[in-house]
Order: sequence, then C-alpha cells, then structure tokens
Amino acid sequence: MTPAIELDGVSRTYPGGVAALRDVSLRVLPGELMAIVGPSGSGKSTMLHLLGTLDRPTTGRVRVDGRDTGALSDRQVSALRARRIGFVFQRFHLTTGVPARDVVADGLLYAGVPLRDRRRRAERVLVELGLGHRLRHRSHELSGGERQRVAIARAIVGTPGIVLADEPTGNLDTRSGDDVMELLTGLKRSGTAVIVITHNPALAAELPRRVEIVDGRITADIPAVGGGAR
Ligand code: ADP
Repeated sequence: MTPAIELDGVSRTYPGGVAALRDVSLRVLPGELMAIVGPSGSGKSTMLHLLGTLDRPTTGRVRVDGRDTGALSDRQVSALRARRIGFVFQRFHLTTGVPARDVVADGLLYAGVPLRDRRRRAERVLVELGLGHRLRHRSHELSGGERQRVAIARAIVGTPGIVLADEPTGNLDTRSGDDVMELLTGLKRSGTAVIVITHNPALAAELPRRVEIVDGRITADIPAVGGGAR
C-alpha cells in the first residue's frame, strides 16, 4: 500500500547549525492513527512542518501519496497540500464575526469549489460533527470544544488523506478533549491518516501507534497491537 505520507532519511538543520531532525524515516499508511510524542525541543514542530509540506528538508525525501515533494515547485506543493492535508492546531483562531459555516466553507477555497457547494459541504460536515445547531454562530458564541470541532470540520471538509493535529486537546477540558479525540479517531474509517503531535504521554498512550522523538531522532516506534485499542 502506498503510504499517505512518508519521510525518507529526512534531516532538517536550521540556519545557525541546529540539527532539529536527524535522518528520520517514517511511513504512515492510509487510515493509520498515530501520535508523535517527545519532550519540548525534541523536534516535533519541525517534523509537523515537514509532514505538512510547510517546510522542506535539508536532506532526504518527503512523499505525499507516493509523490516526491522535492521534485515539485512551491506552487505545486501548495496545491498538493490544499488537496491532501488538513491541519488542526492547538489554538484555532476563528476569524471574528464569521459564522461557523463560512469558516468551514473557506477550507475548500483552494479546491476551486463554487461558494454554494462549499457552504453545502460545510453544513454537512458540521452536522456530522454535532454542530448542526451552530452553523450561524460566530467564534465568540462558541465554547472552546465547539471551536475545536469547527477547526476539525474545516480541516476535513476537503476530505484530505492526511490530518495533522498539533496538541489538539491542549486547551480543552477533559470532556471536550475526549470528544475531539473521538472525532479524530473516527476519521480512520474514511481512510484518512491522522497524526497527533503531542508532548502529553497520556494522550499518546491512547493511540494505536506511537512514535517517540528525542533530540531529532526517532527513539521508538510502537505499533498497534491487534489493530489498536480504539
Ligand atoms: P518541539 O516542537 O519538540 O518543541 P522544535 O521542532 O520546535 O521542537 O525544535 C527542535 C530544535 O530546533 C530546538 O533545539 C529548537 O530550538 C530548534 N529550532 C526550532 N525552530 C528553529 C528555527 N526556526 N531556527 C533555529 N532553530 C530552531
């Protein structure tokens, strides 16, 4: 099976000489749900940026759906990212004054979908995520958990093959955090690969596969046993 995303011998050295990632190889299959866990400064954000094609490696290859992004222009990479990768961040800044439906519909802007279709698809996803009663609410009228669900809706409305979630429950109470994790877990049913980046070992322990990173290197890759707990 072609990995949804693959790092092959990837290193990233920042100007000034900090080697934030060193010879990292990682294959993530469609429908896989995994955590990347490590202490502060270990290279998680660097890895997130490389997996998200927001940054390019110093050496090595990043493949999305088997395509070597190193062979693509910046424009081509942006187009690939818009179609294939959804992002969920810890602090999602919903544009003030914009109704939830339109925040989500904007997730399809770069896919060239006409406005009416964007809104229809946004409504469908929000209803699926239990926010059918919040379509016209603006960010200040939503709870933290609801906002994060809007962020997830925006990330998945374009049916990406990969969702990258950076500390997605970091600002939420336990119950809202559990809901968010359940939604992310549910994405594997549609074949979406979900990668959760976290410094929280308890959160990582709930996911079927865990990759640990220390000092820019993968120190453990613990696979799902019997398909994973969730
Ligand atoms: P984490 O997300 O696990 O906290 P990072 O990927 O942010 O780790 O950082 C890994 C290492 O790279 C750290 O030593 C950090 O100081 C360094 N680093 C991160 N970004 C930059 C940058 N833009 N320029 C120089 N060094 C950086």
